[in-house]
This record gives sequence, structure tokens and C-alpha cells, in this order.
Amino acid sequence: MNTIEKDQLYLAGTYGRFPLEIVNGKGSVAIGADGKSYIDMGAGIAVNTFGYADGVFTDAVTKQLNAVQHTSNLYYTAPAADLAEALVKKSGMKKVFFGNSGAEANECAIKTARKWGVENKGAGAYNIVTLKNSFHGRTITTLSATGQDVFHKNFDPFTEGFVYCPMGDEQALESLVDDKTCAVMVEFVQGEGGVNVLPDAFVKKLFELKEKRNFLVIADEVQTGNGRTGKYFAYQLYGVTPDIVTTAKGLGGGLPIGACLFGERTQNVLGKGDHGSTFGGNPVVAAGALSVVKRIDDALLKEVTEKGEYIKNKLIGKPGIESVSGIGLMLGVKLACDAKKVVSSCLEKGVLFLTAKDKVRMLPALNVPYESIDKALDVLLEAVKEEL
Ligand code: PLP
Repeated sequence: MNTIEKDQLYLAGTYGRFPLEIVNGKGSVAIGADGKSYIDMGAGIAVNTFGYADGVFTDAVTKQLNAVQHTSNLYYTAPAADLAEALVKKSGMKKVFFGNSGAEANECAIKTARKWGVENKGAGAYNIVTLKNSFHGRTITTLSATGQDVFHKNFDPFTEGFVYCPMGDEQALESLVDDKTCAVMVEFVQGEGGVNVLPDAFVKKLFELKEKRNFLVIADEVQTGNGRTGKYFAYQLYGVTPDIVTTAKGLGGGLPIGACLFGERTQNVLGKGDHGSTFGGNPVVAAGALSVVKRIDDALLKEVTEKGEYIKNKLIGKPGIESVSGIGLMLGVKLACDAKKVVSSCLEKGVLFLTAKDKVRMLPALNVPYESIDKALDVLLEAVKEEL
């Protein structure tokens, strides 16, 4: 049996995979078991921040692996403390809790918001407003938080206490927040929902209401964080400061990590015994993540912004391209033809893209070379032309 046959026989059928086995890689190029090279414009869904087999990342991870690979959270380790310090400095938040995924980071945020609600607004103040088309994870509670009916089939009963607001609808938001609201949770750029950027006016209204109605704002930066949008965190594009920030994906550079960051008002909500994770803050993962965070400096962020603009300019107005949404290296391309078919055809031509709803989605490594971008976009435009 080859890998694909074995996978299909032994792995639970939860994923619709592309017909490609990746066996190696360097930078933004993946090597398939078929011996072919593929330009990777998805980076493991915004995870491989510096691409495959990046020397700085692998050195940081290997060095720690040869010292302490794990200890329980009953002891101190330097990589987790250093990483927390680095994240606090990048974000303006005050404290950090480490888990292992985006969903776990969001679970931590939801628990914190509920406890804050009880302590600050009274019993029953546990409602969290999230947005329609959002995506917050696959656990029962983060699925509840996810404002998409398609994910709510067959898994009842869900965690109660979530209310959904149409994305960008200021009036609806105002009518949904009340004495029972402990938080509003948003992605500043919705990823899985189709690469939708939150309108400025909606964000302004959200922060006005937060003052008036006394609730927390949770920024889900699982996908948008760690330089993806040209700022360290996407909320920094809006000049606002949330009370809780969650992040994962690109933070680990390819290893599993989730982080929940607490601001001024939330830094002391969770106390001893309130939350925990066996692997959270694992020293090997934290050492790799620290090397990633350190390299996301102003020069790289500027590059991310410029590359995003470059991609938009190359695509807008071309045959079959209806629009390009998103910011930095988080982009969604609406086509005049079927995005899934185009992505499959690009794979055959040696380029890996993703989809989000009806769009072709790009989330390449932040250091993707211009040469790779050019080749990938040529292939995309050719595939679109053939499909039209
Ligand atoms: N939040 C957002 C915005 C995401 O994009 C995702 C994953 O795509 C998640 C949460 C869940 O993250 P994970 O798959 O690491 O649990």
C-alpha cells in the first residue's frame, strides 16, 4: 500500500485531502512523493511562517530538543517565560496562557470571559456575541462560538450562551449586547469565512459599545496573528486594544501551540487551578515559537504589506478575477469560475492554493520570494483562463 491508500484505510475520514503526499520541502517549495516541486501558497494554512526546513527555526527547536523536551507545568522553563515576554511586548497585553491549538486558545478566552462576567456583572452574565461566518474551532464550545450553521449539524447539544451578529452590522451589534453579555469575540479578518475584513465603522462601534455596556472584546487572532496581515496582530491595523487576544497557527512556525493573551482588565481573572494543559508551553515548541516571534520585526511586516499589495495589483482587472479581499499575506480571490476546480488544476500545474468559501485563498510563508509569487500567480491566471 502507498501512503494515500494506507491513510484512506486507517485514518478517520475527516479530511477531504488533495491527491498529494508531501515528503520534503525548503522555504516556499514543497516536494511531493511524485518527485515534483510545488510552490506552496498555503503554508499549512498560515502555519509555516518561514516555510519548510527553515534553518533558524530548526536550530532553535533542535537545540531545545537536545536539552529538555518536556516537563510538567509544575516546574519553570525558560522558553515559555521568554516567549510570554516576547508576546506581551508585541501585543501590549499583560499575561499569557499557553495551550496547543487555536481552539484551545479560544476555550481559554471563553472561560476567562465567563469568569470575568460573573465577577464583574453578576450571575448569568455569560453571553458572548460572535459574528456570522466566523470560525473559532472544532471543540463543542468553540463550534458553538462559530457563527456558521453548516458546523452546527449533528453535534447537539451545544454549549449555550452564544449569540450571532451579522458581520459589519452595527445596529444588530448594539441590539445584541446587554447586561448578560460578558464579551464580543471577533476575527478582525475572517479567515475560513471567506477572507472578510471587518469594516472600520463596525470596529469603532464595537469599542464604543464596550465602554457603554461594559463587556470584554476578544480578538481571535489564531489565523491573523504573527505578522500575517502586515501588523503583528490584525487589531493593530485599527488602533484598538482588545481585552483578550488568542493566537496559534503561525506562532508555532509549524509546531502546535496556542496562546491566550490577557490585557489590563483580564490579567488576573484566572487563578491557580482555573485552567491548565499538560503540553501547554512545551519547551521545544516554545523555543521554536520564540525564534519565530523574534524575526517578525518592522522590516518583515513592511514586506508582508508590500507583497499583499503586489499580489492584489497583479490580479485585479485580469480575466476571470472578480475581486481580491484581505490584507497582507491573507488574501481571498473571487473568481468568475469555480474556485475548487481552479485550485485542483493549479496543483496539477505545481502550485498549492487553498479555498475559503467560494474564493481561492492565499496564506503563503511570510518570507515567500517574489519569484515564487510571480510563478504562482501566472499559474493561477492560466488555470482561471482555462476554466472560464
Ligand atoms: N480560530 C480561527 C480564526 C481559525 O482560523 C482557526 C482554524 O482555522 C481556529 C480558531 C481553530 O484553530 P485550531 O485548528 O488550531 O484549533
